[in-house]
Amino acid sequence: MDLFKPLNVQEDSPDNDIKNVEKVRCLILGSGPAGYTAAIYTSRANLAPVLYTGLQMGGQLTSTTEIENFPGYPNGITGPEMMDDLRKQAEKFGTDIRFGIATAVDFSGKKHRVTIDDNKIIEADAVIIATGATAKYLGLESETKYAGMGVSACATCDGFFYKGKDVAVVGGGDTAAEEATYLAGLCRKVYLIVRRNVLRASKTMQEKVLSTKNIEVLWEHQTVDLFGENGVEGATLVKRKGTKEEEIVKIKIDGFFLAIGHTPNSAVFKKYLETDQTGYIKTIPGTTKTNVEGVFAAGDVQDPHYRQAVTAAGSGCMAAIDVECYLLNMK
Ligand code: NDP
Repeated sequence: MDLFKPLNVQEDSPDNDIKNVEKVRCLILGSGPAGYTAAIYTSRANLAPVLYTGLQMGGQLTSTTEIENFPGYPNGITGPEMMDDLRKQAEKFGTDIRFGIATAVDFSGKKHRVTIDDNKIIEADAVIIATGATAKYLGLESETKYAGMGVSACATCDGFFYKGKDVAVVGGGDTAAEEATYLAGLCRKVYLIVRRNVLRASKTMQEKVLSTKNIEVLWEHQTVDLFGENGVEGATLVKRKGTKEEEIVKIKIDGFFLAIGHTPNSAVFKKYLETDQTGYIKTIPGTTKTNVEGVFAAGDVQDPHYRQAVTAAGSGCMAAIDVECYLLNMK
């Protein structure tokens, strides 16, 4: 199951034929730590926020295992549990939480118009964009061919289906290390395919990976193809040997997990908002303000660097305070 399907982007302004227009003071897009924290603060400030969750309610953390580095949880907490608690906390203070995605926006006027699911327009005084980021794929044809048939970008969602089998994880960052460790607890063997001769992951995660007996790290390997009759049965890799020499390596696997980073979910806003080259929304340093007055961005969609649950939550809080201030001064 692909939980990271990109937004259905519609570049034009919202369809003016849509009669279903609802006016709100504060609209929040996204239900990760940034969106929910913004919701907790804005609802406690009596701004009656409406929050649209996006496709993956709870955001990326719903597909993570143990979170050990969020302050206040000495024994750790699972991602889904934390997101459930955040949702309940936002609801407790009155946030109107709804399932739906932004399919178009019009940020040209003083009131900001956001089309939800192509059939409803929300007109908001202030908008907080907390739409997060989406998993990247290698771009191989076979990834598409085997989507849902052995290829996944979420070990926590799909790992269960590979119990007792052999799988591979691509990537060398914290996500790859975490997914490989998680899968090692379920699967017979896990290959970790790393394109360089070092891991980017934190020291602790590296130690976990390297001390887990059924994880084999394939250093300096790149995946070039996947093969199989009715689903993934193996992968073809290229191993770099020296500067010019290369060796083709085939591994037998039933599951192929991508963990090579993310793309910010900002495409639907790009006509109006300034972004960097990768698409991360630019904010005025030290604030969550974008280049459009009354539109704020928080969490991973504007953070190419830290990308942590706690920094996302922190920027969600900042966005809520920025909105409060903006609405107070709005004429
Ligand atoms: P990162 O960007 O940190 O790492 C991506 C990895 O994928 C890198 O090792 C990169 O290789 C590799 N990669 C990228 N493109 C390709 C490709 N085309 N082929 C092969 N390999 C490729 O992303 P993560 O998702 O791992 O982490 C994002 C952020 O989230 C980080 O800041 C991380 O610390 C944090 N995080 C924290 C967790 C925690 O604290 N529990 C858990 C998960 C993530 P290379 O190194 O060569 O560039």
